[in-house]
Amino acid sequence: MDSATLLAWAVKQIYRPACISVDYGQRHRRELDSARALAKHYRCSWNLINATESNWLLKGSCLSDVSIPVPHGHFEDESMKLTVVPNRNMLLLAHAGALAVGLGVQWIFYGPHKGDYAIYPDCRPAFIQAMRQAFAVCHFTPIYLRTPFLELDKGGICELGVSLGVPFDLTWSCYEGGDKPCGKCGACVERAEAFAAAKAIDPLL
Ligand SMILES: [Zn+2]
Repeated sequence: MDSATLLAWAVKQIYRPACISVDYGQRHRRELDSARALAKHYRCSWNLINATESNWLLKGSCLSDVSIPVPHGHFEDESMKLTVVPNRNMLLLAHAGALAVGLGVQWIFYGPHKGDYAIYPDCRPAFIQAMRQAFAVCHFTPIYLRTPFLELDKGGICELGVSLGVPFDLTWSCYEGGDKPCGKCGACVERAEAFAAAKAIDPLL
């Protein structure tokens, strides 16, 4: 939901962003399929980073290790720390920076939001500030990190997405990879709350 809305928002600013997904051996392929479909919908390039060769990387999370069960409940719960993929966003942003330099562009769009702070260290303002400083000096010319959702909660993102006409039927949030969203994992619970707050209907349900 966040990435799709961020993409719609960036396109609306008359940008034609290059999209990035990372295959880090996550439990299921659905989010990658969704990302590719969304990039196609907005006629943007889709760049897949294959991090599956390095099987020592990004471990210790239920999202990258099928032997760790997906916790059920709310993102504020302590158990949700199992969904933290170690240092994933720094890895992602580093690739985005390299792609930006290669393409000769100066902007990176990154979509963490208020609801991410409680659990994910690499979504908090202190991390973003540090990455901004790194991007300012990592190349001959600075790269700017834009985080338009930092002050929004998930309901606000859903509302914005609806107003931008985001095809939410193409998105996938559930941490399990079934045919239908499980309705119990943190991502499903948060998604349901977001649609309720935005007074919108989830097309996936
Ligand atoms: Zn789920």
